Amino acid sequence: MSIQMSEIIERSLQDLLGEPTFLPDLRDGYREKAFRSLAAILSTPNHVHKAYLRVVLENGEVVRIPAYRIQHNDTLGPYKGGIRFHESVNEDEVVNLAALMTLKNALHEVPFGGGKGGVTINPRDYTVRELYQICKKYVRYFSDVLGPDKDIPAPDAGTGEREMDWMMSEYKSIRPGKPYRGSFTGKSVMNGGSLGRREATGKGVYFTLRYFLQDYLTEHHQYLAESENPVAQTALAYRGRTLKLAVQGFGNVGSVAALEAYHCDQLNNQVVAVSDRNVTLYNPEGLSIPALVQYTSMNKGDLPQTAEELSAAGVQAEILEREAVLYLDVDVLVLAALENQIREDNVERVRAKVLVEGANAPISEEADAELTRQGFIIIPDILANAGGVIVSYLEWLQGRETQFYSEDEVFKQLHDKMSATMKTVYPVFMATGKSLRQVCYNQAIIKLSANLYLQGKLF
Ligand code: GLU
Repeated sequence: MSIQMSEIIERSLQDLLGEPTFLPDLRDGYREKAFRSLAAILSTPNHVHKAYLRVVLENGEVVRIPAYRIQHNDTLGPYKGGIRFHESVNEDEVVNLAALMTLKNALHEVPFGGGKGGVTINPRDYTVRELYQICKKYVRYFSDVLGPDKDIPAPDAGTGEREMDWMMSEYKSIRPGKPYRGSFTGKSVMNGGSLGRREATGKGVYFTLRYFLQDYLTEHHQYLAESENPVAQTALAYRGRTLKLAVQGFGNVGSVAALEAYHCDQLNNQVVAVSDRNVTLYNPEGLSIPALVQYTSMNKGDLPQTAEELSAAGVQAEILEREAVLYLDVDVLVLAALENQIREDNVERVRAKVLVEGANAPISEEADAELTRQGFIIIPDILANAGGVIVSYLEWLQGRETQFYSEDEVFKQLHDKMSATMKTVYPVFMATGKSLRQVCYNQAIIKLSANLYLQGKLF
């Protein structure tokens, strides 16, 4: 992970210190002290839990697998964040992702703190039975620090409903007679999960884009037309035009975002490219996303890779190399794969003027600075991909009440929450010339700071 959240948090605090609305009750000397306390509190995690899971493979061999649970901050509520299974997982990465969760939850007024977990494996290298052991061991090793009112994991890259179901079941057997439904979110609906949780992140990703390009630009057209902010001009150039989209990643987030774009009749969209770990598929006239979703659901999540597979899927497209998706001549690029995809070494080649972060941290800090300098619009992870944790919160509530909401109700609440956030950040973004990411970080830190101050934690 190339972003260092501790530095980002300190920079946001510096930025906020000059604003009179930041901790307005404090006189000057105290503001500086509060600033130093905040920097100390927010730039380090509360707890770092690490274990080496002992797992017996099917061939009888015993292996030890590094596993982490990082609890970054619980000012706003129990720690909350996914568990990632990926071979690049390491402590530094999980610490950064946990801090991002703290800010994400604060930004969207989700009453949780921030945490994150990870296991350093490529799940494709393990059998189902071995993965089951790994999930059970993970819960057993960390059971003392997890729980519905302490720390609530969820899926992340490499994990999904199946893993959450296994983990909740293990938690339940370790703590008999205790509440367990809210111990994990992102479970299958049959097992106490929420309707709409699976689609929530992808839907939210597309919703942030649609809200920006449609609702916001329409409502504030006059103001933006007179604005000297170059970003306003970039945005206005897109109004009423056919939008060509490319989507990197065709998993749970990318495929749903692509499908939303395909079906959206309020914006004139065309999804011209999608990609996965093997290929990019490109058709300048637009791809049939439903046919691709259908194909991947029957082929272990992989997109068609050959002419024969494309024709079996009933899709017309050119097959390009995996990375090609990033450099196509499109209007919008949705990054829904993994982190660190756009970096200093390839940022020059990006042509889409609007980038949406479905994954966490897909744009490196250097690349972000360069794109921002050139007037590109980045809808950042903290804003765009919060649909997952927002519906996780609804799942947690439903688990507590043992009462379940309809899918319509879930999506309505998801949209209400995301629009409420967007109503506060988009105007500041346009008015100040700061990047949308910076505006979101600042907003989250203001919320956290006010709570820390009111809880008497700053002095
Ligand atoms: N892993 C997701 C994220 O990064 C969801 C977290 C959750 O639902 O707790 O936001």
